Amino acid sequence: MSAADFPTLTASTIAARVREGTTAPADIVRASFARARGVGAGRDALNIVLWSDEDAAVKEAETLTTQLSGASRGGVLAGVPIAVKDNICTLGLPTTCASKILAGYVSAYEATAVTRLREKGAIVVSKTNCDEFAMGSSTENSAYGPTRNPIDIRRVPGGSSGGSAAAVAAGLVPIALGSETGGSVRQPAAFCGIVGAKPTYGRISRYGLVAFASSLDHISAFARNVDDAALALEVMAGVDPHDSTSADIPVPSYREQFVSRATVEAPLTGVTVGVPREYFPESLDAGIRNLCDRSLEHLRELGATVREVSLPHTSLAIPVYYIVAPAEASSNLARFDGVRYGARLSSADGLRGMYDATRSAGFGPEVTRRILLGTYVLSAGYYDAYYKKAQAVRALITRDFTTVFADGIDVLFTPTTPTTAFPIGSVTDPYEMYLSDIFTVTANLAGIPAMSMPIGRVDGLPVGGQLIAGHFAEPKMFRVAYALEQALGDEAHR
Ligand code: GLN
Repeated sequence: MSAADFPTLTASTIAARVREGTTAPADIVRASFARARGVGAGRDALNIVLWSDEDAAVKEAETLTTQLSGASRGGVLAGVPIAVKDNICTLGLPTTCASKILAGYVSAYEATAVTRLREKGAIVVSKTNCDEFAMGSSTENSAYGPTRNPIDIRRVPGGSSGGSAAAVAAGLVPIALGSETGGSVRQPAAFCGIVGAKPTYGRISRYGLVAFASSLDHISAFARNVDDAALALEVMAGVDPHDSTSADIPVPSYREQFVSRATVEAPLTGVTVGVPREYFPESLDAGIRNLCDRSLEHLRELGATVREVSLPHTSLAIPVYYIVAPAEASSNLARFDGVRYGARLSSADGLRGMYDATRSAGFGPEVTRRILLGTYVLSAGYYDAYYKKAQAVRALITRDFTTVFADGIDVLFTPTTPTTAFPIGSVTDPYEMYLSDIFTVTANLAGIPAMSMPIGRVDGLPVGGQLIAGHFAEPKMFRVAYALEQALGDEAHR
C-alpha cells in the first residue's frame, strides 16, 4: 500500500490485505494520520478531528499484528481505521459532545457499537467534531468551531455528525460512526457525497451514546460505498444487555443479499420502489429532482417496479420532531449539573448558584434553546397541548409508513435533503435550519431504517438519494442501494 493509495481503499479491501498479511495495520494507521495532516483535518483548517492520539493508535495496531500472527486470521475489519463522533464513548480519547460542559471528560467505559467494531479488528483513530450534543444540521453549533465541507471548504458538511462525514469524504477513514436523532447521518452524507446509513431503532445498542432524545437516537455509519456501510451496520447490530431497547432479533447478513446478486442482469426484479409525492414538492430544486428522476430510471432498468405513493402526514414531521426531541433532551441533559461530569463553575450562591453558573457557561445557545423549549412543552398546562399531541401525530406518521410497506412497497426513494450544502454562516434563523431536516426526521420518528447515497451533483455539490425501508428490512434497503450504486457508477459523483 502506498500513502497515495490509502484514501481510496474501502474497509473490506484494507481488512482483506491485513488478513492476507500483505499490509501491516500500523502502516494503515500511520497513513490515516498522514492523510489527516495532508488535507488539514485539524482545528485550524477543516476542523474535522477534535481528539486523537497517533502513538496510542499505532500501538493498538501493533498489538493487533501480534494477535494476527497467532491462530486467528483476524476479523472482517482487521486493521481498518475508524473515526467516531464525539458523542459516542470511547476509551482513551475524550468524549465531549463538542460541548464546553464536557471539556476534558474521558468516559470510564466504551460504547457497545465501538466494542463490536474493535472486536472485528477496527482501530479508533479519532473523535470527530459535531454540533453540540448533536443538536444542529450544519456542525456550526460545535463549541470548537464549524467543520468545513471537504468538497467546498466555504460550505458546511451538514450535521450534526459533520466531522465524521467529512472524515470519510476527505479520505481519513473508510468508515466513521455518527448518531441520528433526526437525520444527522443521512443529511451530512448527502452534503459530503458519501453513504450514510441508519438502522432500525433498537437494531444497534445505544449503550455509550450520550443521550439526546432516547426514543429517536440511533448509532449509524458513514462509508464511501454501500458495501462498507452494510458491513459496519452488520457488525454493530444485535441485542445488548446494556440497552433494554435493543432488539433481541437475529441479525441477517446484509451483504449476502446483494453480493450474491452482483452478476444478475436485473437484480431488482420483483422489488417495488415507492415514490412518496410529499417528498417531491413543487418547490423542490430542479437539479435535485432531475437527479432523482435519473436514479428512478436506473431502478426501473434494474427490474424494479416504481410506484407513486402518499405519506399524508409528512408535513407535520418537523413540528412533531421539534417538540419530542427537545422534550426528551431537556430531561436527558439535566444530568450535566457540574457535579457528576465535566466542567464545574463555583459560585458564591452555593449549590444552586453552582448549577446556574455551570449550565449557563457550559451549554451553547442552541442547546440552551432546546432545553428551554423542551422544558416548556413538558410543563404542567402545556403537556397535553404540545407533547401529548406530538406523540399522537408521531403515531400517525409511523402509520403512514407501515401502511405503504404493508401495501406491497419494499423501499421508498426520495431526495435526502431539499438543498445542497449551504455556505457556512448563511442560515441564521433556527427555524430555517430545522426545515433542512424535512425529509430525514420522519424515519427517526417511525424508527425505520433509512440511508443516503450519492446520486450526482448540482453545481459541483453532492446530492443524496434516500432509501427508506420497513422495520428490520435493512437487507432490502441495502440490496436496492447496492444495485443503484452499481448502475450509477461514476454518475453518482457527476
Ligand atoms: N438536525 C436535527 C436536530 O438538530 C437532527 C439532529 C440529529 O439527528 N442528531 O435536532
